[in-house]
Amino acid sequence: MTKFVVITGGVISTLGKGVITASAALLLKRKNYKVTVVKIDPYINVDAGTMRPTEHGEVYVTFDGGETDQDLGNYERFLNQKISKNNNITTGQIYQNVIKKERNLEYDGKCVQVMHHIPEEIERRVKKAGQDSKADIVFIEVGGTVGDYENIPYLEALRRMKLRGENVSFIHVSYLPIPRTAGEMKSKPTQHSVKALSAQGIQADILVCRASQILDNVRREKIGLFCNLKDDEVFSCPDLKSIYEVPFLLKKQGFDKKLSEILGLNNKEPELSDWKKYIATKQDQEITIGIVGKYFKTGDYQLEDSYHSVVEAIKHACNHEKVKPVIKWLNSDENNNLEIDAMIVPGGFGKTGVEGKIESIKYARENKIPFLGLCYGLQLSVIEHARNLLGLKDANTTEIVPDTNNPVISTMPEQIKLLQKKNYGGSMRLGEQKAVLKKASLTANLYKSLEVFERHRHRYEVNPSYKERLEAKGLVVSGVHPDLGLVEFIERKDHPYFVATQAHPEFTSTPLKPNPLFLGLIRAAKKKILD
Ligand code: GLN
Repeated sequence: MTKFVVITGGVISTLGKGVITASAALLLKRKNYKVTVVKIDPYINVDAGTMRPTEHGEVYVTFDGGETDQDLGNYERFLNQKISKNNNITTGQIYQNVIKKERNLEYDGKCVQVMHHIPEEIERRVKKAGQDSKADIVFIEVGGTVGDYENIPYLEALRRMKLRGENVSFIHVSYLPIPRTAGEMKSKPTQHSVKALSAQGIQADILVCRASQILDNVRREKIGLFCNLKDDEVFSCPDLKSIYEVPFLLKKQGFDKKLSEILGLNNKEPELSDWKKYIATKQDQEITIGIVGKYFKTGDYQLEDSYHSVVEAIKHACNHEKVKPVIKWLNSDENNNLEIDAMIVPGGFGKTGVEGKIESIKYARENKIPFLGLCYGLQLSVIEHARNLLGLKDANTTEIVPDTNNPVISTMPEQIKLLQKKNYGGSMRLGEQKAVLKKASLTANLYKSLEVFERHRHRYEVNPSYKERLEAKGLVVSGVHPDLGLVEFIERKDHPYFVATQAHPEFTSTPLKPNPLFLGLIRAAKKKILD
């Protein structure tokens, strides 16, 4: 019988619930169970693809073309396994399907109700995700915070599942503030959030206490008492240097044993030697990597979350190369100090900061700074090349100047049709796509293969009618789509490491298997420092 582990959050959002969920799933996977993870996002958007980064942070892309919450990235990186877009459930999807069924008379003339048919549809989706991946254990992370109005149908669905005899356990992740004026860790908000959960008919089986510091025994006992939990059901998860240490921290406190006991699992120790090696790697020498992007301000705060997977991919490659990454956030709207060992121009949309990014690419090309361009980063590298080496001063992308004389980046006809119909949601070139690489190219050497699959999320492409002219001036097209002939990878002959891709290789990098393009960048940066 499939087992379900529900993870809810309390007190604040952005708690690191996704990392705790991924860590718990990893611990059980390494006891030889088949696991999968479902993320519930209670917003009305059908997927994350239509949201601004200020609203949502990074939009993660799954192999099957889902535009999802970034937590799916955490699950994939921790578990080293592919997670389908069907594992990201939103309220938009739930209602869309219920309304479709109602229109098709699938409810037999019944009154279709929020507090019955919506939880039923949620239950169907959760179970289907488990069946599709043949999982022994399905972890379900409920986004947002307990007590939110929009969480209620999900908690209701999961409560009913348990009532009907499914094997469902609940882990509540809460936050304990340490106000400077109080000088101690306060547990009251956590007590309230556990109470809010019980008002939904759910008793937490395990409580994980997030805080800047470790939880002491005095508070552990007190929290247990007020939250109806034994001491050994309360765990501490303070801020750590690296999120990849979280599984070990939980294991050290007996978290996997307790969870296994609750679920009725074997008492095998999780095998984590490869992870241990990753954590123990000494990384002394610093490498400065400039990420040229748009940084979004909300009020007085600047959000760097939209490049989350890029940062993780850098960390994986640096760990592999035993160097310590220092990331410099270079705002493409400002003049920057470019004292860096490597540069990344990541994905993006629209015109803000584009000219600054093109200037930075020119700098990297001329000064032989190891460079990696991701999606928009490839498109802007092509524009820079066309403007400065082909002399096409007005070269541009039709995304910014629709009637430019030199549309070196433009859309394919089917994309134009979609845009005319305002069909924006889920309609870009999305998901895993194959590319055939050029023999003996740097890209093929890095991938150690002539065929690769990377994930895509874009509407615009290198305009095929400029391909020959671009290549005549030192740009190498090192990978193309086998059927569509579209440019997928480029590199330069006149540069130690200038590689760009139309794809998003950051989404396939994991701690145990860094992405080859990031590895190449870091190796080139290391070499540049030594020379
Ligand atoms: N804006 C570009 C496009 O839609 C690049 C997208 C991206 O970087 N993900 O093609």
